[in-house]
Amino acid sequence: MTKPLPDLSQTAFTHQEIVQILSVTEPDQIESVRAAAEEVLLKECGDAVYMRGLIEASNVCRCDCHYCGIRKSNASVQRYTLGAEDIVALAQHAADVGYGSIVIQTGERQNKSFIDDLEKTILRIKQETRRDFLPQGLGITLCVGEQTEETYRRLFEAGAHRYLLRIETTNPSLFARIHPTDQIFETRVSCLLALKSIGYQVGTGVMIGLPGQTTDDLANDILFFQKLDIDMIGMGPFVPHPDTPLGNVPCGHGAERLRLGLLMIAATRLVLRDVNIAATTALQTLDPKGREKAFRFGANVVMPLMTPEGPRENYQLYPGKPFLNESAESCRIELAASITAAGRKLSLNAWGDPLHATRKS
Ligand code: SAH
Repeated sequence: MTKPLPDLSQTAFTHQEIVQILSVTEPDQIESVRAAAEEVLLKECGDAVYMRGLIEASNVCRCDCHYCGIRKSNASVQRYTLGAEDIVALAQHAADVGYGSIVIQTGERQNKSFIDDLEKTILRIKQETRRDFLPQGLGITLCVGEQTEETYRRLFEAGAHRYLLRIETTNPSLFARIHPTDQIFETRVSCLLALKSIGYQVGTGVMIGLPGQTTDDLANDILFFQKLDIDMIGMGPFVPHPDTPLGNVPCGHGAERLRLGLLMIAATRLVLRDVNIAATTALQTLDPKGREKAFRFGANVVMPLMTPEGPRENYQLYPGKPFLNESAESCRIELAASITAAGRKLSLNAWGDPLHATRKS
């Protein structure tokens, strides 16, 4: 039986209303949610889609997350770390093709030499990516896991101004089930608070369709983003990786995780309104048109892959990562086409900060 939808034009949703939105399965109700989210996006943020060139700078990781393909215990991964020279060259290429911003993502490492190198690389990128059309150099987003406040501050002072750290799930018992005992929910929360207090634009997100996760949990996730006044959201469906402890645990059909993934984007847009939301590659893994659909459900950021082809194969957080065999150039062309197909405008040569953050300052 079709259940009624809440008023989608309101600006304050309750937990129960978010659950109702995430529970729709009828195509016409899904379309109503999608259209309402797209309307909020166009009204609050406009039709631009911002690009962040994604550089997966190292797959060395000290963590053993039960879901992740590059977890420390996965011996079938060949470990790599790109040198500063390579990272700076990729960043320059990003600036030259108009991306405006990059994301530097790595496995989690806290050793001094890794942080020192990263700091130096950030300083170089800020110097060497200045262009007439980008006078302050590229915008830099980091995604390098849990670090001390001191480290976060150093990297901020070097020139990174955005940080992504997913909470993965805000249900503490589910969090405990998908992580080893030394990874603690509260630590993630305090990292997010530290990042905010330092002045970063802060992004977080969750995996959708984890074994045992409910729509109640997902509605709480969105309310958590709101409570923490988060600026950016990156979330996508959970995709089981065979070389991990969660590789064979039942987690619902792919189509179901795709539906929930898109509804989460729409619901997050309806509740948080002026944040940046990424169309993530995990969606593309479940549906070749996944990212295009994400734009239509309210996403406004995309992260074209720039990692060179050799290392790229060894940065598989989940199997079936799209574009694995394609050149960075063809990724770029395909993405630009999917943005146009969704009726949106590709924004070039701009940092593309979330309005939610710039309105605060
Ligand atoms: N070390 C960095 C980057 C981690 S990878 C950090 O800690 O932030 C980025 C994200 O990939 C993770 O936060 C997780 O949400 C997602 N991820 C990992 N394994 C996944 C899987 N099997 N399916 C879907 N998403 C996954």
